Amino acid sequence: MDFNTRVVAAEAVATPHNAVSPPIFQTSVFAFEDAEAVDQLLSGARPGYSYSRGGNPTFDVLAGLIASLEGAEAAVVAASGTGALTAAILTLAPAPVRLLVSREIYGGTVGLARKVLAPLGYPMEWVDLHDPAAVAAACDGPPAILLAESISNPLGRVAPLDEVIRSAHAASVPVMVDNTFATPYHARPLSWGADVVVHSLTKFIGGHSDLMLGVLAGSPDRMAAARDVVATAGFTPDPFACWLALRGARTLALRMERASANALALAEALQGHPAVRRVYYPGLASHPDYPVARSLLSRGFGAIVSVALDGGYEAVQQMVQRLRLVRFVPSLGDVATTLSHPKVASHRELSLEEQAAVHIEGRVVRISVGIEQAADIIEDFRAALS
Ligand SMILES: *Cc1c(COP(=O)(O)O)cnc(C)c1O
Repeated sequence: MDFNTRVVAAEAVATPHNAVSPPIFQTSVFAFEDAEAVDQLLSGARPGYSYSRGGNPTFDVLAGLIASLEGAEAAVVAASGTGALTAAILTLAPAPVRLLVSREIYGGTVGLARKVLAPLGYPMEWVDLHDPAAVAAACDGPPAILLAESISNPLGRVAPLDEVIRSAHAASVPVMVDNTFATPYHARPLSWGADVVVHSLTKFIGGHSDLMLGVLAGSPDRMAAARDVVATAGFTPDPFACWLALRGARTLALRMERASANALALAEALQGHPAVRRVYYPGLASHPDYPVARSLLSRGFGAIVSVALDGGYEAVQQMVQRLRLVRFVPSLGDVATTLSHPKVASHRELSLEEQAAVHIEGRVVRISVGIEQAADIIEDFRAALS
């Protein structure tokens, strides 16, 4: 079945009593007839749930839907995207290894690597995924895992991840791919050979800025280990947030179809604007990764457009103050168009030199394009920029 169908198909959210909307198991714990019954469940001899930190039916309905969308055999839900990234790293590398981190990556991921994992003995090394020799050289050495994004935050870089993954695997380096920007609507990194795919469900999959959640997906063995990490480290989500994510996810295909079409229209409109120095959108022929994006992504190029303004940070401030429809929101993936400023918000974890190396400058804003009428979004920017 096509993605558009799978995302709403009833089988994806199989629930007790054929409830059409999945029930919310808002319970921290489950009761048992006797000690023997608990022993059987905890030893794996019979299926079920005991304590929600270790599992809950509402988590599993959501995990099942995400696994189906990513083409994964299994998935595990976590309390946030960052919790899912941490669980993925600890699953792939329970003892310290080098963390090879893509040069273009979400600042929060850099914070996790630097502030939490480096002090535990996981040294972080930058790697340029657009340079095959650099990837091979980085992978060659002591044990490592590689962290990449299918579409990078914030400048929409799309590295040839199929080749990167082959090269990493040749050196026995597992690869995890953060698929938050692309969503499984546009990209399925497991089909390129990725070992684990990770999402912040807080963004497009939730889609309504009303929850915080994450998910990781991969092989059944890895996900059994990940479930243990999530339960034992306490990265456990909340059942109600999972229900909200399920509700949001059912319209993912429709939302991404509209939002990515709007993003392309906005990117094209802004590209010619005299106040705009540069537009970063992988669906524009002017983007350096346009050929790779066309070969790796499907059904469009996502809903994030970043823009560098000629007038620098001062022009950004003025534009943001003059926008009427589009609000400054330091997140992304809402049904409404929002914008943020990577240098002061999502990427403040990077040093000035690190920011400069990947063009995160005062003049750059990141726009998360929503599902409004494209003409209204474009007009809001035209009026503010004028
Ligand atoms: C927001 C984000 C995260 C972190 O997710 P949280 O749900 O905020 O913890 C990870 N990766 C990317 C690309 C993001 O945009």
